[in-house]
Amino acid sequence: MREGCRDCERCTEQGIVGFFRGLGLAVLAIGTLGVSLVVVRIANTGRRMCPVCNHPMGWHHTVGGRFKD
Ligand SMILES: [Zn+2]
Ligand SMILES: [Zn+2]
Repeated sequence: MREGCRDCERCTEQGIVGFFRGLGLAVLAIGTLGVSLVVVRIANTGRRMCPVCNHPMGWHHTVGGRFKD
């Protein structure tokens, strides 16, 4: 997958690390009947989300909440 923005850690995180991280989250979500997803949603509440990839802006390499360029 090449979608996402290049300033986002998660979007630029390619390969086996991202795969296993995603797999782990999926297993965790299934194992807890989706509770973890709810927790993540709650944890993200109040955070600004990236309009491009919908990841928290905190995961982005931004300066003052704005993209570097
Ligand atoms: Zn992203
Ligand atoms: Zn993004």
